[in-house]
Amino acid sequence: MFRRAETYNPRMLAQRTLKSLTKAVGVGLHSGQRVELTLRPAAPDTGIVFRRVDLSVPVEIKVNAEAVSDTRLASTISNGGAKVHTIEHLMSACAGLGLDNLYVDITAEEVPILDGSSASFVYLLQSAGIVMQNAPKRFIRVTQPVEVREGEGRGLKWARLDPFHGYKLAFEIEFDHPAVTSTGQRVEFDFGSGQYAREIARARTFGFTRDVEMMRSNGLAMGGGLDNAIVMDDVKVLNADGLRYQDEFVKHKILDAMGDLYVVGKPLLAAYSAFRSGHAMNNQLLRALLARPDAYEIVSFSQEREAPRGFTQLAPAW
Ligand SMILES: [Zn+2]
Repeated sequence: MFRRAETYNPRMLAQRTLKSLTKAVGVGLHSGQRVELTLRPAAPDTGIVFRRVDLSVPVEIKVNAEAVSDTRLASTISNGGAKVHTIEHLMSACAGLGLDNLYVDITAEEVPILDGSSASFVYLLQSAGIVMQNAPKRFIRVTQPVEVREGEGRGLKWARLDPFHGYKLAFEIEFDHPAVTSTGQRVEFDFGSGQYAREIARARTFGFTRDVEMMRSNGLAMGGGLDNAIVMDDVKVLNADGLRYQDEFVKHKILDAMGDLYVVGKPLLAAYSAFRSGHAMNNQLLRALLARPDAYEIVSFSQEREAPRGFTQLAPAW
C-alpha cells in the first residue's frame, strides 16, 4: 500500500515561508527592554503567529484583525492576556516579501525596533531564505469600496479600500512642520512594481523632540533615539545623515499601512488610499471590511500567470 501524495500543482501561486530560522537582538522602542527575536518556518495555513517564549508557559498569538487590541503609538496584538507591542514594521516586511506563514518567537512584550524601518527585517527574512509551500496562496479580494472617516475640517482623516486587480497604496499626510512640509506629503506605491525593499522598506519612523520628552515622562519611547528614528526639533531634522528618501515621512506611513493591513491574515487585492490615517484607523478599516462579507471574497490562483503583477516575482525564492 502507498499513501497518496497531496496533489501538487506546480503552476499555482503558492504560499511562502522561511527556509531556515533566523535571529535578531534589539531593544523595544517604547519599553527600551532588550529583546531576542527568532523567526521560524511554519506549515501552510499557519499564518503569522507571535509566541511569547519568555512566559513560563509560552503563549501563541495568531495575527488577525480582531487580535489588535491597542493602536496608540504602535500596533499591539493580544489574546486577552499576553501582548506583543509594535508589530507593524515586521508585519510590513512580511507583506513586502509575501510571507504567508511564520512563527515569531519573542522574549519580551515588544518587537525590537532595530533601525526604525522594516529594512532590517527584510534583510533578516531574505538571509534566511524564502521557500514555496504546497498550498495555494490566498488573497482577500476587495469587491466593493469600503471607507472609514473621522472628524471634519482640519481634523478630517479617512482611509478606504477600492477594488483593484493588484495592490497599490496612496497616502497623504498633513504635517505643519518646516522639515516635513518641504518634502513630499503624498506618495503612491504600486506593489506590482516589485520595489518594496528599495522604495519603502528603508523609511524610518519619525518623532519630535518635544513629544519624545513627553512620552519619556510617561515611560514611553524609552528605546527611541537617533539610531532608530528621524528626530526633529521645531524646525529641522536632527539626524546627522539627514533623510534616506526625500519623502521619507510619508513613505513610512505607507510602510506602516502595509503592516497594519497585513494583520488581516492574507494579502489584499485592493487599492488603499488614506488621508492622515494611522494604526487605529487602518485597523478600523479592516474591521469595516470584515463586517461586510458582500465587499470581499477569498481567492487563489491555480495558474500563477493569472495573479496580479508583483505577487509572482515577490522576493526571490530559493
Ligand atoms: Zn512605523
